[in-house]
Amino acid sequence: MSRMRAMQVSRPGGPFELVEREIPKTGSGEIRIKVQACGICHSDSLTKEGMPGIAYPRVPGHEVVGIVDDVGAGVVGWSPGDRAGVGWNGGYCGYCDSCRRGDFFACQTATYITGITSDGGYADYVVARAEAVARVPAELSAVEAAPLMCAGITTYNCLRNSGAKPGEVVAVLGLGGLGHLGVQYASKMGFKTVAIARGQDKGVLAGTLGAWRYVDSRSQDPSAELKKLGGAKVILATVTAGDAMAAVIGGLATNGSLLIVGAVQSLPFSPLQLLGGRQSIKGWYSGTSIDSQDTLSFSVQAGVRSMNEVVPLERADEGYQRMMSGEARFRMVLTTGN
Ligand SMILES: [Zn+2]
Ligand SMILES: [Zn+2]
Repeated sequence: MSRMRAMQVSRPGGPFELVEREIPKTGSGEIRIKVQACGICHSDSLTKEGMPGIAYPRVPGHEVVGIVDDVGAGVVGWSPGDRAGVGWNGGYCGYCDSCRRGDFFACQTATYITGITSDGGYADYVVARAEAVARVPAELSAVEAAPLMCAGITTYNCLRNSGAKPGEVVAVLGLGGLGHLGVQYASKMGFKTVAIARGQDKGVLAGTLGAWRYVDSRSQDPSAELKKLGGAKVILATVTAGDAMAAVIGGLATNGSLLIVGAVQSLPFSPLQLLGGRQSIKGWYSGTSIDSQDTLSFSVQAGVRSMNEVVPLERADEGYQRMMSGEARFRMVLTTGN
């Protein structure tokens, strides 16, 4: 088979189109992966709806898991048949100042983003730069591993670098695709995990995921509830609503941090709120391939799994619409049958 299926977008705001394409060639330093599963992420909307700099047609998808099918010149350590995954970070140069400081995600010479600057995983095959590829452990199926390549790494890597210590209060704002993973990771890391979401009915789910306490932000003031618990050392904000984030800032403990992973346009708050308690608000970048690998490894060890709805590749539009509407419980995953 020298041709493959892909769900491409031809213009900003255009529909997903099922097309047949040549299987992409593997260049120097690249690995070709036969895709088995690809998660649908909110950031796929950048490709679907348009973002300056994207060259169309483009195939979205940055939660890719499959089998290495071809290895390009100069690639060391990978062989056809290896299980592999690719996330948002599509690679880095290795020689710029940021890379030499270990901040590969902030590479100054190369901005490689899977499904944005190159075609992603809504297809039978994807070509990725070798440094962007993570090993996938045998214990995880492709469908289990795929959502961990963005939603998983983002929450896990943020929490493990948050500075919170076991036994401290960590709140997770939102119980969607990111939040339902964030609660599991926070709980398994030993934090007193407080889940915050809208509606009393989500309390049972929060408990199932390992939450120590649940706060219903519709009927309760989340800041006041966190204060009653001594304040949160960290609040992991996974929602995409600025006012929901603003409503929890008052619940930070002394030296606490609001860590933002949800793509929010603006945040209405007064910096005066932060001065007395020396609190901070910080963004977090998901991570690079080794962080993905650590995420997968920890998920196996601790039993963390994404709850997924699975649809075949051809129904990418349906999956995308469910994700965008917030109806997905909790991540949408495309399968290719490969
Ligand atoms: Zn993503
Ligand atoms: Zn670099």
